[in-house]
Amino acid sequence: AIDVRNVHKAFGPLHVLKGVSMQVMPGTVTVVLGPSGSGKSTLLRMINQLETVSGGEIYVGGELQGYRHENHRGTDRLRRLSDKDIAQQRSRIGMVFQRFNLFPHKTVLENVMEAPVHVKGMSKADAKAEAIKDLTRVGMQNRLDHYPSQLSGGQQQRVAIARAIAMHPEIMLFDEPTSALDPELVGEVLSVIRSLADDGMTMVVVTHEIGFAREVADQIVFMDGGVVLEKGGPEIIDHPSTDRFKGFLASVL
Ligand code: ATP
Ligand code: MG
Repeated sequence: AIDVRNVHKAFGPLHVLKGVSMQVMPGTVTVVLGPSGSGKSTLLRMINQLETVSGGEIYVGGELQGYRHENHRGTDRLRRLSDKDIAQQRSRIGMVFQRFNLFPHKTVLENVMEAPVHVKGMSKADAKAEAIKDLTRVGMQNRLDHYPSQLSGGQQQRVAIARAIAMHPEIMLFDEPTSALDPELVGEVLSVIRSLADDGMTMVVVTHEIGFAREVADQIVFMDGGVVLEKGGPEIIDHPSTDRFKGFLASVL
């Protein structure tokens, strides 16, 4: 589960998130909608500790991100975690970005094996078996020896998803995973994400794909200007209560 509590983020004088709260229950899909600049990527990056929090708290699996509770002579104290411990917390979360950030000089198989071998210390044989399983899950088992440049954008993005799930994350974060794709390639990536959701993966997806949101999301969060303006079940897409959400939906449909 993810619990975002009254989170603020400032970049210098720019106050980007102004008190965002959001809960994501285990095994559910939350779709975050909102116009450009509303702070969606910043929120995901903070959940994954790629950005620090300026105010408020984020809990993942009950653990305060970036800190540990310590009992010191009977008093409960918070201790800032080391970079190594933060990396440990971060490894529970998989993230897929708009731009497929595969290693260009590695094959599909090597891309997916990389983190299990070098971060988790898995043996190459085990990592290979795992990678083939994960690539099969995204329908890329027939492209093991291809290089990213030999793949379509949709195929590259499916490999990026396999690479994330190879680390067995508890949670997956997707930041506009289809918005850099040609329209005919969007469907194959969305259907892989949908199948992960059907398998019970907890996920947060930033996307402008309203059809996908309506069908797959358990929860919709609409952000605008650094705040959550609307939050609810997928039915709020068809019954927006604010003019801002109405206008946003009209602009993306
Ligand atoms: P989009 O739909 O275009 O991806 P978004 O909702 O993801 O937009 P963010 O990328 O979170 O928006 O950005 C929110 C605001 O924060 C923007 O005004 C952006 O310019 C600013 N911002 C983001 N990252 C930084 C940074 N590292 N330094 C300064 N400003 C930043
Ligand atoms: Mg963004």
